Amino acid sequence: MLTDGFGRVHDSLRISVTDRCNIRCFYCMPDGLVAFEPRENLLSFEQIERFVQIAASLGVTKIRLTGGEPLVRRDLPVLVRKLAGIPGIRDLALTTNAVLLAAHAQTLYDAGLHRLNVHLDTLDRAKFQHITRRDDLPRVLEGLQVAKQTGFKIKINVVAVKNLIEPDLVPMAHFCRDQGFEPRFIEFMPLDSQHLWDRSKVLTADEIVRTLSQQVAPLEEVPDRDRRAPATEYRWADGRGRIGLIASVTRPFCLNCNRLRLTSDGKLRYCLFAVEETDVRQLLRSGSDAEIAAALRSNVAAKWLGHEINSQRFVPPPRPMYSIGG
Ligand code: SAM
Ligand code: SF4
Repeated sequence: MLTDGFGRVHDSLRISVTDRCNIRCFYCMPDGLVAFEPRENLLSFEQIERFVQIAASLGVTKIRLTGGEPLVRRDLPVLVRKLAGIPGIRDLALTTNAVLLAAHAQTLYDAGLHRLNVHLDTLDRAKFQHITRRDDLPRVLEGLQVAKQTGFKIKINVVAVKNLIEPDLVPMAHFCRDQGFEPRFIEFMPLDSQHLWDRSKVLTADEIVRTLSQQVAPLEEVPDRDRRAPATEYRWADGRGRIGLIASVTRPFCLNCNRLRLTSDGKLRYCLFAVEETDVRQLLRSGSDAEIAAALRSNVAAKWLGHEINSQRFVPPPRPMYSIGG
């Protein structure tokens, strides 16, 4: 088991397969030239597979593939097939902006992926373009429909930025209720490469629940939710589905954290906001399984109690979201 100094057991691993992206959300990426990791630094699919085998032997059961935009990594279904077949991996999911999803949904599903988090903040084409600096909303919506028809279970990730996303909350809630998707509202976090974040730009989970309860339908908190899941779950009182709130800023869930992250260039991070990392790329090239297992254990053992977004001591991590893997 991967247990840290506070007794938290780690069974969930997020793997970034690339730091590249085909759109440019302002709260994640800069607009101009981005210095991406040289391709030769990316872990190969075989290295990722080996790492997951070792992590699974230490108790990891859940894998999420992310990025950057994971669908820009060529042949991603090949990796999915490898990971889906690893004994002990019970849950495999992917976070994507869905721009390339229509073309890949069936192959991904057939390879063993059945759960998606699709990142979509708005159904308004001009607003989408403003946020992402690209005019790709029709492709995202097409990707969602194809994925739904393919059979994927779909959640929608909405980044909650104040004075921006409020008019989109109600249309998004109706869209998700109609389509059978679960929206997850993620408070804007200080992980943007342009350092635009400050607390006043966070649309809080409480504000979102209030708006949706008043303008869509009453919401009630789900009592038996998984305590280690980052999202606080609410259900519509009329029985038409659920919503999730990831309130990293106003209700940090660090005390229950069970997550680890592997970046596309092979750095192990025990927290989204970690300042230190463990390099496993070199070990995956020339080290033994025992050395890699030891690196995993020591990274988890060194885990801090939690990020300090709400304190004066908070230091933003040296990498922005697209380079960590959200
Ligand atoms: N490109 C994929 C996507 O956008 O879903 C996967 C990577 S992206 C970094 C993962 C998630 O991070 C996104 O779904 C988005 O909701 C979230 N995200 C990005 N920047 C964020 C920020 N500054 N604060 C909170 N969430 C953020
Ligand atoms: Fe790309 Fe995802 Fe970052 Fe948006 S949030 S720029 S889609 S990596």
